[in-house]
Amino acid sequence: MWWARVMDRFIKGRTIATTIGNTIAIPNNWALMSPRAKAELLIHEARHLEQFRDWGCGVVWIGVVVLAVLYILALPAVFTVRAHLERQAYEQSMRASYMMGNKGPEYKDSWKQFMVQVFTGRLYVWMWPFKRKVEQWVDTVWYKLKIEDKMELLEYNLWKPI
Ligand SMILES: [Zn+2]
Repeated sequence: MWWARVMDRFIKGRTIATTIGNTIAIPNNWALMSPRAKAELLIHEARHLEQFRDWGCGVVWIGVVVLAVLYILALPAVFTVRAHLERQAYEQSMRASYMMGNKGPEYKDSWKQFMVQVFTGRLYVWMWPFKRKVEQWVDTVWYKLKIEDKMELLEYNLWKPI
């Protein structure tokens, strides 16, 4: 597939995953990643698969075109559609991590640090460059997960469609 080759070139030397349409390109350090990190990453990318399908009204390649246009129009960053989509996907990563037992406050703090880097940094072109807002969003997701845990809704919310 032509875009697998393009993505392969794009991702060489990178330690991030990328999903375009129905193709997930795993990072080149995949073999070194822990099973836990792999699960968090695949749950995240699975949400992106759904997003391409949904933004294309059920047709993945239309979703690719729609999101590509939105990404381009949204540059330079700040309040981008991409930030919205990444928040949905990272919420799933946090949910998966939480379900695997990472429930202590130290995990919330490390998610905050990581999310601030992701959303306010250059890796994703400063897509949501407001540190305080990002931290508040992590707090909100975290307390949502605690409530879901008490109500035994974590697994349901991990697999339900958006
Ligand atoms: Zn993502």
